[in-house]
Parts: sequence; structure tokens; C-alpha cells
Amino acid sequence: MGKPKRKVSKAENPFENSLKQLEAAQKIAKIEPSVYEILRTPQRILDVKIPVKLDSGKTKVFTGYRVQYSDARGPCKGGIRYHPSVSLDEVKALSSWMTWKCATVDLPYGGAKGGVICNPKAMSKTELERLSRGYMRAIARFIGPDIDIPAPDVYTTGEIMLWMVDEYSKIVGHYEPAVITGKPPDKGGSEGREEATGYGGAFIVREVVNHLNLNPKETTVAIQGFGNVGSNVAEALFNMGFKIVGLSDSTGGVYAKDGLDTTKIIPCKEEVGGTVLSCAHLGMMARAMHLDKVSNEQLLELPVDILIPAALENVITGKNAQKIKAKVIVELANGPTTPEADKILHKKGVFLVPDILANSGGVIGSYFEWIQNKKNEHWKKDDVLNRVDEILAKSFDAVLKTSQEHKVDMRTAALVLAMRRVADAIKKRGY
Ligand code: NAD
Repeated sequence: MGKPKRKVSKAENPFENSLKQLEAAQKIAKIEPSVYEILRTPQRILDVKIPVKLDSGKTKVFTGYRVQYSDARGPCKGGIRYHPSVSLDEVKALSSWMTWKCATVDLPYGGAKGGVICNPKAMSKTELERLSRGYMRAIARFIGPDIDIPAPDVYTTGEIMLWMVDEYSKIVGHYEPAVITGKPPDKGGSEGREEATGYGGAFIVREVVNHLNLNPKETTVAIQGFGNVGSNVAEALFNMGFKIVGLSDSTGGVYAKDGLDTTKIIPCKEEVGGTVLSCAHLGMMARAMHLDKVSNEQLLELPVDILIPAALENVITGKNAQKIKAKVIVELANGPTTPEADKILHKKGVFLVPDILANSGGVIGSYFEWIQNKKNEHWKKDDVLNRVDEILAKSFDAVLKTSQEHKVDMRTAALVLAMRRVADAIKKRGY
């Protein structure tokens, strides 16, 4: 359990990368140095040790983190990741991106992120439950519905969130569902939350094609990752008439230049537990259609109009950016593009919508779950997704105008907007 930690070079260190992105935006944002120093620094870092009794009877002590990057604009908000390669630098970077994400789309939240170094695939359900309750006991006194509200992230689920809500509720002495979002819809969660990131990504793609005057029916798309985010964006884009020609998951990918019916592939993945490779033929739209097998590296370099990374960090780097043929990149994964790649893509004229805008549908959905919990209300799925769409369309417009005004790429523009909003809150509240 728990692989040895991989050495991360400075170029791959996600926190260093997040600081480089801030530096680029600071040239335009021109925040006064004392406030900029605050923007570069996480507000609070928790490093907790969680003893867990394993099914074998032995005890293993796990390490977990919770980084509360900023609460200047409201309670901190961000998911909890379970993964063997979790590191403090990764959690710090993710907490900073949550801060800029919430500010870009103008939610009344700050940013946070949590992580536990563990390999959930190698743990039993009861071990996972003990770990999740232990992590919650370790951070409970530092979080709360008006302080810091966690949610799921990679390899954490609605069920894990419910164990954590239960543990927190026992500690505070009353049921408190608003302390965590991403709960199952029938247990205090929100309809539409699960789809919100992928569908939100599709709403952003629609804004991009409107801006660039493209015709969805003639616009080809490749998507890397076919989990929650990848499969939902694939479904939404197919229903909007886009031509999805490339798909992949961790086992590899496919290219079908005539387009795939992704809605036929999703049930095969979900219900039969198949892979993109084993299910793709079900999405073939004509008997004579041809499918090519591609690697994940090749998928990124396919001749498509729109590329959507929806799996991992650091997949578009200085090494492959020059080979990317897409004219548009919509980042649904967090941190898929390194700063070096950003520069190359910008020079090539690629229109890139950054993660802090493109995948913010998820946190907007979480915000609506939190409101419903606080008011004891239950909204319909369409209602939730329409409200997500409204916020995203408005935010896309604001970021695009900032990018045109300062002649900078969309990432820098989103950061300029976000940094100014957070800086304004810091100054007005006093520090
Ligand atoms: P998930 O675990 O449901 O799916 C991840 C997918 O990536 C799977 O299909 C997996 O097979 C694939 N994958 C893993 N390794 C791969 C590799 N080497 N090459 C290609 N594909 C690979 O996770 P998710 O919730 O869909 O999250 C995907 C990304 O989106 C992550 O970066 C996450 O931080 C980000 N994100 C998720 C949400 C959300 O609401 N779920 C919100 C914002 C951002």
C-alpha cells in the first residue's frame, strides 16, 4: 500500500507552476506588493497523521493535508484527493487554483484543497471508512459550513463524503450536511452536481465556438479521460451536435474520423465496467466506419479542432506543445498544461480556456448544493444546470473582455480578474 514517492522536478512542481502563472498575471494586474505577497502564500496548512487499524490487525499511520489558501472572499472551498502521489506541493497548488477559480466565476468562496497519501484501490471498504473518519477527526475543528467546505476529488466518492459528514456531525453534536458538498443526491447532495463539471465544460465549448464563429456540426473534438468529467462532456457535446472523433482513458484511446456516438459508449463503460478501447465500437455510427487505436500521447496530437484534457495534470508540456494541432484547448482537468507549454501554444495562436474557468461548473454545482443544504431546499437537475450555464456564460464573457483589453491569453486574463477580486477583498477587510 502506498507507492514510494516519485521525485518531482522543479518544472513539474505544480505549486511552482501556479506561482509562475501568478507572476505572469501580476504584470497586468499590478497588485500592490504587500497584497501580492499575501496572494502568493497559503493562509493555513494542516499536516495530519491518521492512525488506521487495517483489516490484518496492524496499524498504519497515513499522512493527510488540508491547505486553506485564502478565505478573503468567503469560506474556503475545495475537494479531498486520495492518491499515492499526493504531496504537499500538489495540495498547495490545487488550493491556490480553487481560490482563483471561485474568484473567476465570482462565487462567495475562498479556496482550499485536501489530500491523503494512500492507495484506495488497494484498501478494503472498511479500511477506507476508518481512514476517512480519521481524516475528518483530524481536521474537524478547522473546517465548517462557514469556514471550509470540502468535496470529492480524484478517488474520493459521494459515499466517502457521507462518512465524513457523519463523523463531523457526531463531533459538533448535530447533523450538518452543509459541511461537505458532492454528497449523493438522495443523501443531501444536489441533482446535477455530478454532471456539472462536464456539462459546464460543454457550455464553455459552446461559448468558444460562438466567439470563433465555428459550426458545431463541422467541429471535431478529442477528449482525454473518460471518467466523471470526460464522459459527461462527451455526452453533452454529442447532444449539441459536435463531432467527437477521439476518446481515451488510462488504458488507451481511439480515433474515428467520422465521429462517435458517445452516448452509446458511456453505458458500456459504466454498467459493464469496460474501457474506451473495449466499448468504442458501440459508438460507431456506420458499419463501414473505421476506428484507429491511439496512445494517450497520440490522442493529444490528433488533427482536431478542439482538444479537451479531462484526466491528469502536466500532460501538455514543452515537449509536445509544438505538435498539438487543435486550434482550441478547453482544460477540464486541473493543471493539464505547464507554463512552458502555455507560451508555445499562445505563440501558435491556440485559443486555450484555462481550468480555473473551464472546469468551474463543478464548484458552481457545489455552491448550489451548499445553498440547498443551508435552506433545506431541493432543486431540480435542469434548474441547477441552467444556473451553472448562466454563471459560466457571464464569466466567459468577462474573461474574454479582459483578455482582449490587455491582449493576453485567457489564463492570464482569468487570473488578472481573480487576483484583483481577492486583492480587493483583502484590502477592504484589512490585513
Ligand atoms: P475520474 O477518476 O472520474 O476519471 C479520470 C479519468 O482519467 C478516467 O477515465 C481514467 O481512466 C483517466 N485516466 C487516468 N490516467 C490516465 C492517463 N494516463 N491517460 C489518460 N487518461 C487517464 O476523475 P474526474 O472526476 O473525471 O476528474 C478528471 C480531472 O478533472 C481531474 O484533473 C480533476 O481534478 C478534474 N476536475 C474534476 C471535477 C469534478 O467535479 N469531478 C471538477 C473540476 C476538475
